[in-house]
Amino acid sequence: MTDYQNIIDAIYAGCRESRDRGVVASYIPELAKVSSSKFGIHLVDLNKNNFCAGHSKDAFSIQSISKVLSLALAFSLVDNALLKRVDVEPSGDPFNHLSLLEFENGIPRNPLINAGALVVADILVSELDDPKKDFLHFVRDLANDRTIDFDEKVAKSEKRTGFKNYAAANLLKSYGNLTNDVETVLDFYFHQCSIAMDCVQLTKAFFPFMNGGKCQRNRTYLTLSQVKRINAIMLTCGFYDEAGEFAFEIGLPGKSGVGGGIVAVLPRKYCVAVWSPGLNAKGNSKLGMEALEKLTTATHQSIF
Ligand code: GLN
Repeated sequence: MTDYQNIIDAIYAGCRESRDRGVVASYIPELAKVSSSKFGIHLVDLNKNNFCAGHSKDAFSIQSISKVLSLALAFSLVDNALLKRVDVEPSGDPFNHLSLLEFENGIPRNPLINAGALVVADILVSELDDPKKDFLHFVRDLANDRTIDFDEKVAKSEKRTGFKNYAAANLLKSYGNLTNDVETVLDFYFHQCSIAMDCVQLTKAFFPFMNGGKCQRNRTYLTLSQVKRINAIMLTCGFYDEAGEFAFEIGLPGKSGVGGGIVAVLPRKYCVAVWSPGLNAKGNSKLGMEALEKLTTATHQSIF
């Protein structure tokens, strides 16, 4: 049996010493307050054995990691109808780029770049009775944890400086790919991104992507086909213009957020979450990427 704890301890020891920790995101002012010295990692295997190190129980802003959870909820509500409004191709561009959106007549390349996530948010706003409350309930339910919540300060902070997201939403609206009004969709989106979770809670919420759609309580959230599709989108699009590098170095489907979190899954084996707030030039956690590379190399386990 793989000694995950030993490997994770070694990864933590290495990352704790690291001087080059990347740069904490500051374009959302509230995120700039987080210390780059934080580092947490948590892994849960298929049999629900848990392994952790560092600040694995410190909550942080999940940001774009939430896009996978909103995609999962939208998929479970409207299934493939979603694909009429958003494509599933990697963009090769940063998460907030707009040029392709105009070039491709308002159909975002994939649901994990901002424009695509805004279309998914629009679908949820249309489909849910009380969108923010129902989405939060879905995340709490997945993780089986009622304490998970929005961070209103982070949501407000992003609203004040989210000019590019306003631009993306307005472009989508101009192409007829946003049903609800721009303010309502952005309010939902900024809130979903503001959700605060720790590494342990994230591995619980992402358990179904590793376990054929079933959460730790064995409740089914997604079909096998939906899990396959979402994991494929994570692998090809989860790290924007660094998706190729992530597949090359780590070899797992995963998703990052500018709060410095990364979640990745090895189907039928484990789900891992890592958090280190300093980002690399592509906006992905610098030490998080390095830690996961060490994990898949040391365990000789990846989807490849
Ligand atoms: N809320 C952030 C934004 O829209 C999410 C970006 C990210 O985590 N990559 O800019």
